[in-house]
Amino acid sequence: MKLGNVDFDNYAKNYPSPDGFFGKYGGCYVSDELKNAMAEITKAYYEICKSRKFIDELRRIRKEFQGRPTPITHLERLSNQLGGVQIYAKREDLNHTGAHKLNHCMGEGLLAKYMGKKKIIAETGAGQHGVALATAAAYFGLECDIYMGSVDIAKQAPNVARMKILGANVVEVKEGLQTLKEAVDAAFSAYANEYKDAIYCIGSVLGPHPFPMMVRDFQSVVGIEAREQFIEMTGELPDSIVACVGGGSNAAGLFAGFLNDPVDIYGVEPLGLGEKLGDHAASLSFGTEGIMHGFNSIMLKDENGEPAPVYSVASGLDYPSSGPEHAFLRDIGRVKYGYIGDDETIDAFFRLSRTEGIIPALESSHAVAYAIKLAQQMEHGSILVNLSGRGDKDMDYIIEKYGIR
Ligand SMILES: *Cc1c(COP(=O)(O)O)cnc(C)c1O
Repeated sequence: MKLGNVDFDNYAKNYPSPDGFFGKYGGCYVSDELKNAMAEITKAYYEICKSRKFIDELRRIRKEFQGRPTPITHLERLSNQLGGVQIYAKREDLNHTGAHKLNHCMGEGLLAKYMGKKKIIAETGAGQHGVALATAAAYFGLECDIYMGSVDIAKQAPNVARMKILGANVVEVKEGLQTLKEAVDAAFSAYANEYKDAIYCIGSVLGPHPFPMMVRDFQSVVGIEAREQFIEMTGELPDSIVACVGGGSNAAGLFAGFLNDPVDIYGVEPLGLGEKLGDHAASLSFGTEGIMHGFNSIMLKDENGEPAPVYSVASGLDYPSSGPEHAFLRDIGRVKYGYIGDDETIDAFFRLSRTEGIIPALESSHAVAYAIKLAQQMEHGSILVNLSGRGDKDMDYIIEKYGIR
């Protein structure tokens, strides 16, 4: 399939370019020292990750440790309530640790092991990436330093406990607003000092090349599995697929399986409380082009051109930019990006729990809400939605803030 001059037959091979560009987005905008570190990871990735040994080991880990393949579930009762459209869910909530993030963390951990690194370094905001990475570090016997702002440490006590139980070292970051941005800066500067023995692991399809490519490739297992399973289950392709977009890793993984197919693809951003800057994190819908955290993409900026403060009820979605590949897929018109606010998200959270017996993560609830809206606009056909994670982590917050609906 072709769109303008983009040929999707060989898309994954041609995008990104060898220096990490999806069109004008992506790249590697870091200090000279970190450039060397990124070049080392890129070289290792191209060599090691294409080797039979690496691929076989990752396959075995996915099957025996993560519990892959995760199933697709036909959401029959929900579909019946909505009319003629059939909705299906790819169950990443059933992946070990309860979300899709482990897919790239196990890949990154295995790469670290093959590169002979002793330690993995990362930042975390809500702690989900930290927990997935601490899990990978424990599995591979690697040291693990997770940088986290003091404010987030106080807010995310259960995830901090999980990381510590798994043996990770949680490094408190006390600079500035003491949240994700400061944690990213602190983790990057630690990495610049330690890169001979350590590898940095980014939590989404973000950051300098090769991370947007690597994380997408590791997550593409979601889309590849889903395509096969969906065809086996229904005899055809879905008409539409839907995934939520924070940094964009679960979406990139699902989309990778269907880019070359006649399937409508939707990414769903968090509209939070509304369209005012600061009330949402819908960067692809409201942002402009710019460089931050080592890559060029579409981002939300404040009046000084700095990353703007963002908000969403789903802490895994509140990042002021999205991966460069999403900016590219948006520009060429292959993927449509829409948004869903907090209220509809909470409704979808309870609706899926009540009608299907699946408690979705608040991040995933954005995708479910969008699929529900889409189904109401279509007369027939099918929608496959990526259930990126389970909602256990969100229950205390929801009960406290919204009560039982
Ligand atoms: C972190 C997270 C997300 C958002 O990250 P992406 O990189 O956009 O996929 C979505 N869902 C869940 C369950 C998460 O933990």
